[in-house]
Amino acid sequence: MKNKNYIFLVGLLYAIGPAHASLSFNLNNVNGSVTGQYLAGFNAAADFWVSQFTDDVVVNIDIQVASLQAGILGQASSSMGRVSYANARQSLAGDIGSASDAAAVASLQAGGHFDFMLNRTSDNPNGSGSATPYVDENDSTNNSTVSMTRANAKALGLLAGDHSGRDAAITLSSNFSWDFSTIDGIVSGAFDFVAVAIHEIGHALGFISSVDVLDGNSPPHNGPFSGDDFANAGFGAVTTLDLFRYSDDSCAVNGGVPDWSADSRDKFFSIDRCASFMGQFGEGRNFGDGQQASHWKDGLGLGLLDPTLAPGELGTVSGLDILALDVIGWDVRTVPSPSVIYPLAFGFGFLVWGKSRRLG
Ligand SMILES: [Zn+2]
Repeated sequence: MKNKNYIFLVGLLYAIGPAHASLSFNLNNVNGSVTGQYLAGFNAAADFWVSQFTDDVVVNIDIQVASLQAGILGQASSSMGRVSYANARQSLAGDIGSASDAAAVASLQAGGHFDFMLNRTSDNPNGSGSATPYVDENDSTNNSTVSMTRANAKALGLLAGDHSGRDAAITLSSNFSWDFSTIDGIVSGAFDFVAVAIHEIGHALGFISSVDVLDGNSPPHNGPFSGDDFANAGFGAVTTLDLFRYSDDSCAVNGGVPDWSADSRDKFFSIDRCASFMGQFGEGRNFGDGQQASHWKDGLGLGLLDPTLAPGELGTVSGLDILALDVIGWDVRTVPSPSVIYPLAFGFGFLVWGKSRRLG
């Protein structure tokens, strides 16, 4: 009798269950600081990403509005995990949902290890901590480990989509005047709250480079550490997005390998192993261009995941932003075109000349 009831209930749940997989966000207002239009702004940002991706994933984000360091509009702290390169590649291959995904997977180095270029490590053959890049091809831990945000792991099926742990904590600054409505553009002198929240959630979804970890943990700031140290807990192995980060130099070796160096040489996003470059990345606060490597290069209009936003500027997500998240494991609702600008809301945006502020 019990069994029969159980089966009936299962059938009933199935019948009324959701018909389509969908992305959702669980925004946890940790200290009650996010109310009114701030909360509406965070929800609008989450809704934007829901409108883009179809993954059956719940992303858990602690949200806050608080005073941040001068010049910082917002920051995201993402919970990271590590998986073997073999598992990451297999998951990416199993998650192909667009031509871009197929190209990206085909561009990855075969086998359980990948070669890549880096610098500033204690085991740099050019000298401990040397800025001269080298190719790490010794198949050790950092050649077989990939770091990714928990949300990225959920999108790839490497972590249960409904896992309840915290995926990220996002804080937007209370030190600026914000415009919460994009419908009439952004008021002169104010910043686009929804755009900044979308930007920070983009990091949580996996738009992140651990070159920033190397950049902050190399002499004279810290270290030097061995290449494999960066693949250990508490540091950061090459991220999913970093697998598509190249330079002219790194494209010239071993058929093209990722460039994970912290320096000011140009780094590019490529999903076809150097056959074409689709956008340029930031290079690092200390040793690069002064901006985090976890962004597009500043000032080129590549997308909302660039490092700065000016007052009065209406933030717009680009096809390139979407494409980057597409190839690291998110399932796009509409196949992105790198040249398309996605309006965040209907209406006219305008730019006002002003000093850009740094996004986290
Ligand atoms: Zn950022």
